[in-house]
Amino acid sequence: MRAPTVVMFDSLPEYRALREELLSAVERTLASGMLVLGPQVQAFEDAFSRFLGGDGRCVGVNSGTDALVITLLALEIGPGDEVVTVANTAVPTVSAIRETGATPVFCDVDELALMDLEKLPNHLTERTRAVVPVHLYGNMVDVPRLRERLGGRSVHVVEDCAQAHGARLRGAPAGTLGDAAAFSFYPTKNLGACGDAGLCYSRSLELVERMRSLRMYGFTDRYYAESEGRNSRLDELQAAILNVKLPRLAARVRRRRELSARYDQLVAPGIERIGPGDGVEHARHLYVVQVPDRERGRAQLAEQGVATGIHYPFPIHRMRAYRFLGYDAGSLPRTERFAERVLSLPLYPELPDESVDRVCAALNVALA
Ligand SMILES: *Cc1c(COP(=O)(O)O)cnc(C)c1O
Repeated sequence: MRAPTVVMFDSLPEYRALREELLSAVERTLASGMLVLGPQVQAFEDAFSRFLGGDGRCVGVNSGTDALVITLLALEIGPGDEVVTVANTAVPTVSAIRETGATPVFCDVDELALMDLEKLPNHLTERTRAVVPVHLYGNMVDVPRLRERLGGRSVHVVEDCAQAHGARLRGAPAGTLGDAAAFSFYPTKNLGACGDAGLCYSRSLELVERMRSLRMYGFTDRYYAESEGRNSRLDELQAAILNVKLPRLAARVRRRRELSARYDQLVAPGIERIGPGDGVEHARHLYVVQVPDRERGRAQLAEQGVATGIHYPFPIHRMRAYRFLGYDAGSLPRTERFAERVLSLPLYPELPDESVDRVCAALNVALA
């Protein structure tokens, strides 16, 4: 009989380990009768602020996408404005910019698959209002260096931290280096809710007030809209679940790093990996290698019972939805090359060491 498949991600081991705590948190929340914007959301916002180390404030929202939208809206970004980001990311980075009415402008990526800060100045115009660096895979863009590249312009920096909970750059947590940050707690992320959830963060209390208002109809007072808002509240139930899981996040990121170090050792030296940037403590959301003949490699791995993923197979500027932005094939060469070559290997905290050994054995044969 063939050994069971090594999967990319499995939420059940964490559920089994925390079952009693999770169910009692759900029970307490239901019994409290407070279901929306109550003590659980407040406690989670405070705890996540402490996790980020301090003086900023968090605003819990419905998803990572909404966290980006609300942050950009709070910065008063809208139609006619340009927001520079990358096409080598999850679609929501870009759809969020579009939701504000602003125009996404794509900067190519560097050899770490992150925004190429050398090229960034070429994309700045008098319409540029913000830059959204994406801390892809749990690696980090060097935000202070990014700021230097802005050459003193007043352009906001919004960190997309959906994959970077627990990453640090020269000691500073991902999310604390820009003007604001957006986190996602989609179930597969480093910290996952039991459904959709997200969070905005900023050190500017004025910005935080606007975020709070925007997540609830634009209210500043009960039934009074100061601005045009939306409904993007974080549920008490999801917050209660996140309150159980957050104290474990640091240890779970450490385990991701341990598994990644094992991959680093066991993946054959000839196979290209995408390592951490200088001064970065990588949060290891994904472990990604680059392979020349990906489809053949993937099929061989599947044959050996090893699941793999691709993050991401289609560069955003080449998707039909975003053709109107006018980027031709070849316009972002590194981005397009990554899309053809990246392969994500199974990685989640409960993955046994032996599974990494099995993945590497299969990978090294498939790509020999
Ligand atoms: C997951 C993700 C998002 C969106 O988060 P959702 O909670 O799914 O809306 C945004 N950006 C990146 C890079 C992501 O990986």
